[in-house]
Amino acid sequence: MEYLNLHNINAPYEKDIKNALLQVVDSGWYLFGKQVLLFEQEWAGYCGYPAEGSAQSPFCVACANGLDALRLTLRAWIELGLLAHGDEVIVPANTYIASILAVSDSGLVPVPVEPDEQTYLIAPANIENAITSRTRAILPVHLYGQLCDMERIMQIARQHQLLVLEDCAQCHGVSKRYLGDAQAWSFYPGKNLGALGDAGAVTSKNKDLVETVRRIAFYGSSAKYVHQYKGVNSRMDEMQAAVLHVKLKDLDRCNQRRIEIASLYQKVHNQKIQMPSAKFPHVYHIFPVLADDRHHLQTYLENLGIRTQIHYPIPPHLQVAYSEWKERSFPLTEMIAQKELSLPCHQAMTDEEVHRVIDVLQKY
Ligand SMILES: *Cc1c(COP(=O)(O)O)cnc(C)c1O
Repeated sequence: MEYLNLHNINAPYEKDIKNALLQVVDSGWYLFGKQVLLFEQEWAGYCGYPAEGSAQSPFCVACANGLDALRLTLRAWIELGLLAHGDEVIVPANTYIASILAVSDSGLVPVPVEPDEQTYLIAPANIENAITSRTRAILPVHLYGQLCDMERIMQIARQHQLLVLEDCAQCHGVSKRYLGDAQAWSFYPGKNLGALGDAGAVTSKNKDLVETVRRIAFYGSSAKYVHQYKGVNSRMDEMQAAVLHVKLKDLDRCNQRRIEIASLYQKVHNQKIQMPSAKFPHVYHIFPVLADDRHHLQTYLENLGIRTQIHYPIPPHLQVAYSEWKERSFPLTEMIAQKELSLPCHQAMTDEEVHRVIDVLQKY
């Protein structure tokens, strides 16, 4: 049993995807066409923003990937005068490195803080302790697909006048209304909503922000050959938008299936395996268990034909890229990095496969 099989994940849509791609090929229009317009509208609507017919969405802008979605938002806030180089952004120490790279790359200073023990998500109390006179933003990551404690985080943000950028790369569909100032999305093929290549998007209720992101992502251009910002090129192409349009219709069902599998896994009682808590809404992009002897558990599963993954084996503060942090200690983050093991958990799994995983875990 593979950890993730993208062929099987996409198989139910094979005919629709091929038709959609063929239409794009035949249209002769490959960038900035009606597929991207439609998907921006649909994604805005799906995330709880008003969908406004066929015009360009004021609440959603598509871009090239998830890292760009984060970077473009931070860059737009800089251009809008809401952030400045050297400002501090509070980030979770326990995250995929992209969340933190986006901050560094924007000339801002990432300030990592420890997660909550139960959810492994950024802990509001630790955010409060990390606030200094230079803090301007918080970047919560809805890691593994579970929503952070957003009510509490928004309270802190309001109290200290901080911007909140949610890294939503792993949590498609976890909420019908997002509380942060902006959400950055990745549609990398393995995400809960995945394209057939790279794709991303930014959503926000702030139309100025969305418009600024749109311009920066298109060479900083406000009108053809008129450049307001030293922008970049970051676009979603028509092919990816067409694929996402097809798959979006089925996203809720896919998430429901992940939740169902997770609730079956949660019933496993084995002292050697710690199940994740489901304190907040969760769409189980990843089902993370903790085991003291992770290597042993992983080999045991592998020998019985069950592939697993680790998210993530080396936390950002111990990476060479962030050697300035190598003396820092984040014990909880390090503990998670040492013990975490991700079980297969996705909509293409059969009942038989799910029960096999449960059976094998029970006997460990
Ligand atoms: C996947 C991911 C990203 C980056 O998305 P890309 O589309 O690969 O650039 C950012 N943050 C998190 C938490 C992710 O899982």
